[in-house]
Parts: sequence; C-alpha cells; structure tokens
Amino acid sequence: MKIKKVDLDIVVGVTSKMPTTNMPEFAFAGKSNVGKSSLINALVNRKALARTSGKPGKTQTINFYNVNDSLYIVDLPGYGYANANNEVKAKWGKMVEKYLRNSTNLKAVCLLVDIRHAPNSNDIQMYDWIVSNGFKPVIIATKLDKLKKNQVPKCIKAIKETLNLGKEDIFIPFSSETKAGRDELWQLIEEML
Ligand code: GDP
Repeated sequence: MKIKKVDLDIVVGVTSKMPTTNMPEFAFAGKSNVGKSSLINALVNRKALARTSGKPGKTQTINFYNVNDSLYIVDLPGYGYANANNEVKAKWGKMVEKYLRNSTNLKAVCLLVDIRHAPNSNDIQMYDWIVSNGFKPVIIATKLDKLKKNQVPKCIKAIKETLNLGKEDIFIPFSSETKAGRDELWQLIEEML
C-alpha cells in the first residue's frame, strides 16, 4: 500500500463511547514493549506516529489511525506491564472487550508476540478473546532481527505450540528494523479490505 496520509483521528479512553466508524478496521494488540508502536510506525512509514514506549503501559487509550481515508489501524493499549494495579487491569479489559464486542468494521485482530519468548498467560487470554469474539487471529512475531537465522524455526514452533495454533492460522515473522514481514502484512490487510 502506498501511504499517502496518516492521521490520528480518534482516541478512545476508558470513559469514552466507542466510535461509529465508516472504514474497515485492523486492530493490533500485544503486551507492552512487544514492539507494537514500532510496527505501526513501520507499516505507515513514519518515525514517531505511534509512541514507542519509554514508559510501558502508560497509554490506556485505543487509538484509531486513519490511513489514506481507506482504513483504520487501531492501536489497542498494551497489556501485562508489571506495575499495573488490578483496577487499571480491569478497566483495560473492559475497554478492549467492549471494542472487540461492538466494532462492526473490525476485519482482523493482529496479536503481537516477541519472537524470542513463548507467549504468556496474558497472550493466551488475548488470543482466546480474539477467537471467541469471532475474529480470525493474525499472529505477528516481532523483533525477528534479534534472532540468529538458525534460532528462528525453534522459536516459531514454541509460539505456535503455546498458542495452540492450527495450520490455517496466519503467522507473520516481523521486524521493524529490517521491515521483514511488512509487505506480507500489507498484502493481507489489502486482501481483507
Ligand atoms: P510497544 O510498547 O509495544 O509499543 O513497543 P515499542 O514499539 O515501543 O518497542 C519496545 C522496544 O523494542 C523499543 O526499544 C524498540 O526500539 C524495540 N523494538 C521494537 N520493534 C523492534 C524490532 O523489530 N527489532 C528490534 N531490534 N527492536 C525493536
């Protein structure tokens, strides 16, 4: 996709009403620090559109980035950071769940996991949420450049086994540094538009 323009159009907070949108939406979820902001920036060729996290978990908003007036990239707040208290976690859960339940334009939810680590219970819960809300999950394994080539198959296997992925589940190794996986992800998004 040729990126002509990108704007942060809508920011949804815990107390906000969910917006009614009129373009297809592609949401991105993952634990804090997984590389979500970097991936979004890489997707839209911007250096600092989405905030890369100095302070993990600070953003408790759902951000809708309008790309070319043809789709929204929806940045869900990162989960699972160590210092969140239960109240914050509960609010996060309610907000994200409300979004997944109510969005009528959501085409796919991309779940980001760090390629170097097996998914944890939060990732598994997010995966189950995606599936139980009827969305096709797209698993994106981030920070591919951090592995040596010969380590990649073993790490991919561990992620697939932990999430219990089937053959038909979409799995994309990605690197914001080298842009590996970027074209594949855009192709997938364009097919779903
Ligand atoms: P977020 O909290 O999920 O939005 O994560 P960020 O995008 O802020 O990334 C967290 C840290 O990982 C930052 O220091 C990034 O520079 C780094 N990072 C993110 N993606 C990659 C990647 O693909 N390769 C490498 N080497 N580092 C990455």
